[in-house]
Amino acid sequence: MRVFSGGIATETNTFAPMPTGLASFRDRGYFPAGKHPDHFNFFAGPLWAARLRGKDRGWDLREGMIAAAQPSGTTTRAAYEELRAELLADLRNAMPVDMVVLALHGAMVADGYDDCEGDLLMRVREIVGPDVVVGAELDPHNHLTSTMVENADVLVCYKEYPHTDVLERALELVDLCAAKAEGRIKPVAAVVDCQMAVTIHTSRQPARAFVDRLQAMEGKDGVLSVSITHGFPWGDVPDMGTKVLVYTDGDAAQARSLARQVADELIVMRDQLQPPNPGIDAALDQALAFEGGPVVISDGADNAGGGAASDATFFLQRMVERGVTSAAIGPFWDPIAARIAGEAGEGARLHLRIGGKVSPLSGAPLDLECTVKRVVHEHMQTGLANTPTAMGESALVEHDGIEILLCSLRNQAMGTDLFTGIGCDLAAKKIIVVKSSQHFHASYSQVARHVIYAAAPGAVTLDLTTLPYRKIKRPKWPIDA
Ligand SMILES: [Zn+2]
Repeated sequence: MRVFSGGIATETNTFAPMPTGLASFRDRGYFPAGKHPDHFNFFAGPLWAARLRGKDRGWDLREGMIAAAQPSGTTTRAAYEELRAELLADLRNAMPVDMVVLALHGAMVADGYDDCEGDLLMRVREIVGPDVVVGAELDPHNHLTSTMVENADVLVCYKEYPHTDVLERALELVDLCAAKAEGRIKPVAAVVDCQMAVTIHTSRQPARAFVDRLQAMEGKDGVLSVSITHGFPWGDVPDMGTKVLVYTDGDAAQARSLARQVADELIVMRDQLQPPNPGIDAALDQALAFEGGPVVISDGADNAGGGAASDATFFLQRMVERGVTSAAIGPFWDPIAARIAGEAGEGARLHLRIGGKVSPLSGAPLDLECTVKRVVHEHMQTGLANTPTAMGESALVEHDGIEILLCSLRNQAMGTDLFTGIGCDLAAKKIIVVKSSQHFHASYSQVARHVIYAAAPGAVTLDLTTLPYRKIKRPKWPIDA
């Protein structure tokens, strides 16, 4: 069997200030055809899964381009069209193929393209024809569209948030696609729109049990796959929202009824899924009142993984003003401050202007007298699914008992080694503020005595009623009652 794999992935925050261009893909992950490295990458699950499965089964695997950008603002038309052209040319060169498995995100928006993945899958289908199996793995924070579903045989979303199961779901996708290609199954899809946009943290109940139940349904009684699209409310496109996607083996009525049942279950539990979101001062109050530590506070509004700049100063400013000590905060994407601190060198004391550079959503820059504690020129952290994540030239600086992590490559906090790998003793801290919505949880839950999901201003604001939506379908809970 000849198999083609490749992918284009980014999550577009249409409200975020910075456009996503080709440099954003090169910074995070861009591998032309045949150049994918010999290790697993978070954004290339199906390619890696096809390598693993294909080795045993003697597949002729044709590896096309993989390109992934850190989430940011709307992708430029030129960037999307150039990457699309490259991937489709790779596919044409690989033809004829029996199966195509793509690594996509599902919430990529470009100038002129509200549904990049639908556009891409449609063009893939045009090239391969109706009989070749086309599958894709998606992030659950996608905008599931009918164009995507109609042009793919199977779509599988990660089930976990934090997304720790990229490889497991990619293997399922590849296995389902192979079963279809070999004529063993006939996947039929059903989608139910829940008319809401809900947060589903699988790190706690009731989402944990819900996802476990979904997983237990798969592989028996004709149920092939059950995926939940959580939705990505920072993308203003018509198809934004929570949806259920079910594939059964040839039984369309069964798929429809199961999708409806799962959607109803999810709608009933939606109020319980959202954790409390105290504001900055309330979150600091709660953390300071907590006996012992560390208390980890999520500043999800400045999460680079949701398209924020990761240089917002709202939290740091209040921590400084309130005289909070025994604290750590980061990562601040501030290559200028990281460079200045690095040039000054470890042990130097200097005035640094930190953060607040990208847009008003980042707040005002803070001028702080700091001590440079540690400088690492090519700092790394361990990302989800143990994937190495580059942070670039980085520095840990300290101001009056607050250790601030400055980096040069924009990424959210995922591994505790983001801090410990640059000399910050996290376990000894009272408060750790991470610029991450939920991916931090997989690693930081191992040091945290308590976790608070705070609501700060920023490009990934949790107050969806403040976003100037123009395109989403209404009504949509919780934006509308
Ligand atoms: Zn996601």
